[in-house]
Amino acid sequence: MNDQKGILAVISGFSGAGKGTLVKELLTRHEQEYCLSISATTRIPREGEVDGQHYFFLDKSVFEQRIQEERFLEHACYVDNYYGTPKDFVFNKLSQGISVILEIEMQGALKVKERYPETVLIFVTPPTAEELEARLRGRGTETEEVILSRLSRASEEVTYMDKYDYIVLNENGKVVECAEDIHQIIEAEKRKAV
Ligand code: 5GP
Repeated sequence: MNDQKGILAVISGFSGAGKGTLVKELLTRHEQEYCLSISATTRIPREGEVDGQHYFFLDKSVFEQRIQEERFLEHACYVDNYYGTPKDFVFNKLSQGISVILEIEMQGALKVKERYPETVLIFVTPPTAEELEARLRGRGTETEEVILSRLSRASEEVTYMDKYDYIVLNENGKVVECAEDIHQIIEAEKRKAV
């Protein structure tokens, strides 16, 4: 990846931190500069999710075959499902000078950083733990069991936050400001890479 012009940026955050909204805002405001990698997952689609647009929804056996074929940049198991980043798409875009955003969880993020140290790791967090729980419940898309698993996972993830290059606070009602913070971080990293 040495002759790349685009920046590979990973955005992670606790489930319910509002990453999806932020990433959408970033891509809308700077659509020529970024693209979002579409992950594959074995999770069941949520209402309104479209295959090939939100995720590539795969059977477990197909996902495992693709792991064997080394078709993922990274993959991880998160709350009983596989998630993975298809390799080809990311490399093609980076070589065209387009920065690629991966919206992935922490295990995968740390794997990408280990393999490609020039990756920029950005962690998004709500201001408080109470706010995080309120957002996760407010979404209304998960069962109580899944909500509790995701909260438990968040309390483990706190201990790894310091492995990220940047931590961005996602305050209520400040989506534009927060998306711009992320844009400025990536711009600064681009200048460093020249
Ligand atoms: P959700 O089920 O809420 O869509 O995603 C659960 C978690 O998986 C989120 O933290 C999301 O960022 C993460 N995720 C989505 N795609 C990938 C991927 O390709 N790889 C990894 N490691 N995590 C992913």
